[in-house]
Amino acid sequence: MFNRLYVHVPFCVAKCQYCAFVSTEPQENELEEYPELLMRELQLHPSGDRPVASVYFGGGTPSLLQPSQLARLLGGIAERTGISADAEITLEANPGTVDGLSLKAFRAAGFNRISLGVQSFDDRFLECLGRIHTAEQSRQAFRDARDAGFSNVSIDLIHSLPGQNLHQWRSELQHAIKLRPEHISIYGLTVEEGTPFACIYPADSPELVDEDLSADMFELADELLTEAGFEHYEIANYARPGYRSQHNSGYWKRDGYLGLGVAAHSFLREGHGIRFSNPDTLKEYRQGVTSGHPARFGEQRLTEGDAMAEYMFLGLRLAEGVTLSAFEREFGRSLESVYGSATADLIGLGLLIHNDGALSLTLRGMLLSNQVFARFIQ
Ligand code: SF4
Repeated sequence: MFNRLYVHVPFCVAKCQYCAFVSTEPQENELEEYPELLMRELQLHPSGDRPVASVYFGGGTPSLLQPSQLARLLGGIAERTGISADAEITLEANPGTVDGLSLKAFRAAGFNRISLGVQSFDDRFLECLGRIHTAEQSRQAFRDARDAGFSNVSIDLIHSLPGQNLHQWRSELQHAIKLRPEHISIYGLTVEEGTPFACIYPADSPELVDEDLSADMFELADELLTEAGFEHYEIANYARPGYRSQHNSGYWKRDGYLGLGVAAHSFLREGHGIRFSNPDTLKEYRQGVTSGHPARFGEQRLTEGDAMAEYMFLGLRLAEGVTLSAFEREFGRSLESVYGSATADLIGLGLLIHNDGALSLTLRGMLLSNQVFARFIQ
């Protein structure tokens, strides 16, 4: 049914200017109350049929919770679903919320991977984004994570920031490489409606990076990071050999996962799959959990067609792409018979390649991935 577990912590010290994630500044007692609600929710779900292979605390800012609260939650998860001995257990951390002591305590609590929201090594961009930390705090958090015993550290970076040029982006990548993390996630900034950024930078703002420059930034990341020994294993993700994110790889391979907490999404492997999400306000979430009947929003039982489309547009995110024989094993039909015409078109456009029994995106296909994926959605 599921073999991965995600926990959403919807609190941040302050809302970043570009942020469209479900997160708010915590009100009185909410940080104390929330882990208890998560524990209650955990008890309301079936325990699963095997220990989970990965646990991921994301947000928001999960590093706002006390190490003792996180340790108790991991203990509760281990008791309820089991956590396999070699599980990847990740904590997302905002560099402005951690220090040497807290990172040691997170490590002692059982986390073996830290994902640091660095975003930029330039304080001017950090200020523009509304981040609560400086570049030096990110570097210090990275060193502290190493000192605390984290041998698997990921950092997030954002490109296409307002006014950013290719030279500045090159410098960001060089700073990241110099730190020697095991994993780097790279996102292009999108200005989401309803965020302060959407008012500051309307669609016609000259400060916004255009598509061509954004594509150059994507390609430069690919060039510099692969030169530095990283595998570009997913559209937005790079890892040193052996350090791909196990948890996120599970999403792209359609492993089942249970999401706990406000706005958390779940995908259960029953039939062709069931997707649903938790309420996206703390009030509704609290109501559901305390009444013993957590609401499931947008519950969707996937048809075979939905599952095949997902298999394609999730699997193609990965560098190894979709193996023709694996598709046939999964659905009892050849990929050619279902998507032959779409894949032939996409190969003709130079967006897909067929190699060694697998279909995968070209670099250009990664850049235009939304156009590619649209071809698999009926
Ligand atoms: S730290 Fe992340 S989740 Fe929190 S406000 Fe900033 S971007 Fe949003």
